[in-house]
Amino acid sequence: MECKTAAGDNYLIRATAADDFIRAFAVTCRDVSEEARQRHGLSPVTTAALGRVMAAALMMGMDLKNEKDMLTIQYDCDGPIGGMTVTADSQGHVKGYANNPEAMLPANAKGKLDVGGIVGHGLVRVMKDIGLKDSYNGTVEIQSGEIGEDLAYYFAVSEQIPSVVSLGVLVDTEDYHVLQTGGFLIQLMPGCPDEIAESLDTACRAMPQITTLLREGGTPESILESVLGSYGLHIHAKMPVSFQCDCSRQRVEKALLAMGDVELYSLIKEGKPVTLNCGFCNTDYTFTVAELEQLREKGKKS
Ligand code: ZN
Repeated sequence: MECKTAAGDNYLIRATAADDFIRAFAVTCRDVSEEARQRHGLSPVTTAALGRVMAAALMMGMDLKNEKDMLTIQYDCDGPIGGMTVTADSQGHVKGYANNPEAMLPANAKGKLDVGGIVGHGLVRVMKDIGLKDSYNGTVEIQSGEIGEDLAYYFAVSEQIPSVVSLGVLVDTEDYHVLQTGGFLIQLMPGCPDEIAESLDTACRAMPQITTLLREGGTPESILESVLGSYGLHIHAKMPVSFQCDCSRQRVEKALLAMGDVELYSLIKEGKPVTLNCGFCNTDYTFTVAELEQLREKGKKS
């Protein structure tokens, strides 16, 4: 895939400030949303919506404790986009799709891509898969559909963590490729003194918009510095990020076998190749009749 920025521009950081009363994450992930755009044929406004959710999922994924933990953000919404599903792990990998990738809307009143309009109303669900027995589910109502506000509301209501979530995607107005994607997540830890909370609120209101910082070439470090610079910012970890799907031909074969012999036989009897598509990365897996027959034999033996 052609990349206009260096791979080093796609990374996450985790930080603390104000004697650990504040914790923060920031990410720039242009290539992640550009890859999603190209794989799924996303329109400019669905590129922005999905790109924001992917940036958020990467930051929330970095907060998972174990290597195999997964986090999914699902938008179940009535706007033209029809829904979004994004899954991230704790290692900087993310995948995702929009139900109606080509959905379009004119620019909003501010002349911006109308993410809130394309999302509409409904529910946003956060699912954490943290081992066999421990899974976590939180569902809240979509607030503005602008993603950042929805997730801040989720943190406040479902996790009782006061949070600021700021996300932005810049799309080229001529050929619609992604110019930059990024954001930050700032959270107040229990026991955080009121004066820190209040001054942080003022600092967040005074700072430039995330899209302005991204347009100026902001890095995760410089973005956090612009909000938390006066709070004794400590950066603890840095991690590269990428669009990555864990599907494979083997997995699809397993899924075909799991349908059962009768179903598989009826597919073979139709006498046509069968194509299965991975929704997350839009990869097609095609099986010829001969391959299906081989697979059926393999299934009988095992
Ligand atoms: Zn896939």
